[in-house]
Amino acid sequence: MSIQNRLNNIKKTCENCQNCALFERRNNVVFSNGKDSADIMIVGEAPGKNEDLTGEPFCGVAGQLFNDYLKKSGLNRDEFYITNILKCRPTDIERPNKDRVPKQEEINKCIHFLYEQIEIINPKLIVLAGGTALKTLTGKKSIQISKVRGQFFDLNINGKIYKATAIFHPSYLRQYATEVQKEQTLSDLGNIKRIYFSLQG
Ligand code: SF4
Repeated sequence: MSIQNRLNNIKKTCENCQNCALFERRNNVVFSNGKDSADIMIVGEAPGKNEDLTGEPFCGVAGQLFNDYLKKSGLNRDEFYITNILKCRPTDIERPNKDRVPKQEEINKCIHFLYEQIEIINPKLIVLAGGTALKTLTGKKSIQISKVRGQFFDLNINGKIYKATAIFHPSYLRQYATEVQKEQTLSDLGNIKRIYFSLQG
């Protein structure tokens, strides 16, 4: 079966998934966008309001900001495969319009979809965007993105080692990042660009 068909099968499973309570409030499952044959995979946290409405990851104001950062760094998001740890927007029933960070129990129920995506795409580099992706995929609860961004490290996913790096999440860049952190992100994307072009041979 082709990579595309395998990914489509997982996407269909996600679209029917009721493994956690988030399915009750979602408008769309947000599975991925970008290139199925990408060498570099970007993993964010979870869909927000705009992603839930459109079904596309990294859209809305933060997504546009991310596109701008990529452009400034000489990169094009169409060259990447983009997805999230959770496929449905995390909100609470009492506050259905307020985004929140994923709960561990939701991650536990959803993460196998991401593992399958990684196994099928077999990326040469995984870019972890934000603390939730970093903590979840490294398995280190106290790891801090501000300490490890800019570094390249090994990620062990179900016994297979992938090269990875971490960047600040676009929503963080939009709302909280200092000027220094914005510069650091441009520098980090510059390093990713060098890897990207070296992979193109
Ligand atoms: S977040 Fe994941 S586990 Fe929960 S309903 Fe959506 S696809 Fe299923």
